[in-house]
Amino acid sequence: MSLGWSRRAPVDTLVGTETAVDFSIPLAELPRVSHELTAHDGEAQGRVRFSRQLGHAVADLEVTAQPEVICQRCMQPMRWPVKVKSRIALVSDYNAADRVPEGLEVFLVEADSVSVRDLVDEEVMLALPNVPRHEEGSECAGRRMQLPGHDVEPDEPADTQVQKPFAQLGELLKRK
Ligand SMILES: [Zn+2]
Repeated sequence: MSLGWSRRAPVDTLVGTETAVDFSIPLAELPRVSHELTAHDGEAQGRVRFSRQLGHAVADLEVTAQPEVICQRCMQPMRWPVKVKSRIALVSDYNAADRVPEGLEVFLVEADSVSVRDLVDEEVMLALPNVPRHEEGSECAGRRMQLPGHDVEPDEPADTQVQKPFAQLGELLKRK
């Protein structure tokens, strides 16, 4: 059975046929993830395989991606490497979720169907940091001494950066 990453299919069918899908999904096509990102280039790549394990519908998912996030210390874009390997129990209600063995993640399935996109969106979402920052010891970490509880003023006056897009737009309009 062939299955595109965007297509929803019944969990019973996916599990029954032990469907496996290699995918390469543009990050812009992941609804929740793309909402979090400032740049939408790049892809989430990997493989998912459906099967039944100890009576549970399970998706074994491997995904890698390099989404761009904004470092909350220096406010510069940075790549956040995502490399996830997880075993996900596909459940249709919260009661079933309670019976899922430890070590498995739980994914609540809507209307007994799921798409690869749904699963990848969820997993990449979970892998994104709440407060992205460059590593300790990086240039950005050493640049400022931040006191806990104190907001740090930007290095440059904010308006020099804000004006830039408008200046460029002005140039474009002149050229027309
Ligand atoms: Zn930084």
